[in-house]
Amino acid sequence: MFDWLQDVLVTLGHPGLWRLYRRVFVASLVDEGWRYAVFALALWLLLHVLLKRRLAHRLIGHWPRRADLLREIAYSLGTVAVFAALAAAVLALLVSGHVEIYDDPGKHGLTWFFLSIPLLVIWHDAYSYWSHRLLHTRWLMRRVHFVHHRSRHPSPFAAYAVHPVESLVVGLVILLPLLVVPLNGYVVVAFGILEVTRAVYSHAGVETMPRGFARHWLWGRFVTTTHHHLHHEAVRGNYALWFTWWDRWCGTERADYLERFDAATAPRPAPIEDGAGATA
Ligand SMILES: [Zn+2]
Ligand SMILES: [Zn+2]
Repeated sequence: MFDWLQDVLVTLGHPGLWRLYRRVFVASLVDEGWRYAVFALALWLLLHVLLKRRLAHRLIGHWPRRADLLREIAYSLGTVAVFAALAAAVLALLVSGHVEIYDDPGKHGLTWFFLSIPLLVIWHDAYSYWSHRLLHTRWLMRRVHFVHHRSRHPSPFAAYAVHPVESLVVGLVILLPLLVVPLNGYVVVAFGILEVTRAVYSHAGVETMPRGFARHWLWGRFVTTTHHHLHHEAVRGNYALWFTWWDRWCGTERADYLERFDAATAPRPAPIEDGAGATA
């Protein structure tokens, strides 16, 4: 059953390939780190610095404290390292022929090429929901998932602020399907970008979707920043990542979600006029 693991270990033992493995680890470290830093920093700068006053009425809970921000960045570095190690493991599996990442989009048919991205997102959503539920069992919460929940009012940097074991669980989301199906290289890259965008957006702290979005028959099926923010505030409920359906099917969506979304998207209050202005 674990023949592939043995093959990978043999592959890793080869000095030339070991050098390649290390090179992929370093390259992935730079690539993952750069991508995460740009996305999280851009959203933080935009929402928490440049538009902070303008979006104050859209704040879901409280602005994160500086100590939270620093802790989130420190844990995120660990996650980037774990993701880089996993990328190198994918390379080892590629070399040993146990996974296939192909170049030509038509190699396994264009239908598979185009269908693989939405299928990966649906898989990502189900995998995240159920692994998240597992992380909320008492044993794993105390030892692993508590790290992520130290951010009661997260910043975009909370996206990767998790215990290294949780980083590993999160990172397996692309390796597991690769063990079953071939994926195009562009699809793998696009999924990586979608994954980081989704994670950072969920922790924005400020609701950016328009009023009525969460109650819409179609858009309401997408998880909003408010949805995940309530998970951080209350620790229980709203476990989903992409879509609201798992929480609704399993009865784990928070009862106050729509109310809180409405509050976060209420029109900006009119500026209070001073006494002199009002009587003039
Ligand atoms: Zn979170
Ligand atoms: Zn949680």
